[in-house]
Amino acid sequence: MTVDYPKEFQGFAINDPKDWDHPKLTKFEPKKFDAHDVDIEVECCGICASELFSLKNEWSSEPLLCLSSAYGPKSQVVGHEVVGKVVAVGDKVSLCKVGDRIGLGAQASSCMACPRCHGNNEQYCAKSVGTYCSKYEDGYVSQGGYASHVRAHEQFCFPVPEQIESEYVAPLMCGGLTVYSPIKRSIQGSKEPRVGVIGIGGLGHMAIMISKALGAHVVAFSRSNRKRDDAQKMGADDFVATGEDKDWSQRYMDRFDLILNCASSTSDLDLDSFLTVLRVNKNFVSVGLPEKDDRFNLSPLTFMGNGATVGVSKLGSREEAIELLDLAAKHGFRPWVETIKISESGVHEGLTRLDKGDVRYRFTLVGFHEFFGT
Ligand code: NDP
Ligand code: ZN
Repeated sequence: MTVDYPKEFQGFAINDPKDWDHPKLTKFEPKKFDAHDVDIEVECCGICASELFSLKNEWSSEPLLCLSSAYGPKSQVVGHEVVGKVVAVGDKVSLCKVGDRIGLGAQASSCMACPRCHGNNEQYCAKSVGTYCSKYEDGYVSQGGYASHVRAHEQFCFPVPEQIESEYVAPLMCGGLTVYSPIKRSIQGSKEPRVGVIGIGGLGHMAIMISKALGAHVVAFSRSNRKRDDAQKMGADDFVATGEDKDWSQRYMDRFDLILNCASSTSDLDLDSFLTVLRVNKNFVSVGLPEKDDRFNLSPLTFMGNGATVGVSKLGSREEAIELLDLAAKHGFRPWVETIKISESGVHEGLTRLDKGDVRYRFTLVGFHEFFGT
């Protein structure tokens, strides 16, 4: 199918990490339209802490990727918790059709041919392309969802159950899926699963609700007591303020099947204590991705006693995204969302408040149709 609509997209872009908090309205050329591609007219988009790292360029030692690309825009639009309507599909698309409401997370493409893609692990495909700040084989750097439209491979466009409103679906597309995948993979088969969640922000608050919906006992770990009441309302069975209760680990020996680290920095993370409270051979999994020079500081001696494993997890598969949406529909849990109308000042407000930790607990940018006239 030849697509003559839309030739140009519009979005909020930066071209200098110093201006990370002032994305400007820009027109840009989308990637080449492939046979498996889908064009999404965006309705709303969540704001994830990963976007702060990307805009500030804190995960890389190189200049912004878009500046060095031979083809495509020389500025960067972020946004990867997208909900919208399908407005065009390539000739080979079979997973959605024009008019469908779909969600798109942080991955927009993969090779679809390797064992990882065939084994429900497409998020780990060596040719994976992110929804934003990520290079396609032809050199185009992907542009995200703070935009009128996004173009992505159909595999990553997930059907949305009608009972969930779009502003709540958006945070599930990256943050929710990122925590669902390791929680499900780690507690599968455990009779009385126990999960600890570190860092009660966007990802962490969804991890509490998702763990509960999957039948686990959940302990929330936060640096202070400020979020205690909220965490309990989200369903946490217990709450530990790690900065105020230095002896907490002695009370939790041999307790957890999974400790899920959702913190965006390791600066206040007492890893040795978290590793000692795991059951034998169980997992500490980090989804938190700090800036590039941040390191885990841990001694193997401290977790010799339980043979614990330290790991990392990235996003989730299509199958898991669909399971998560189904779980949210059936259990009725919803991310705690503050909405902000999209505009230059709205994007600025969302980014700067998230940077200060001033959000309960996820922003969803809304009002796209009104702003872009779509
Ligand atoms: P938020 O900013 O919403 O939450 C992060 C939480 O981390 C805060 O609420 C806080 O929790 C805790 N925290 C903040 N600063 C520190 C510190 N100095 N030391 C210890 N803890 C701290 O971020 P998101 O939930 O949006 O993202 C969390 C992380 O997950 C980010 O690093 C992001 O890049 C990453 N991410 C990874 C993905 C993956 O595939 N692995 C996908 C998506 C995001 P509290 O106040 O309770 O202590
Ligand atoms: Zn994200």
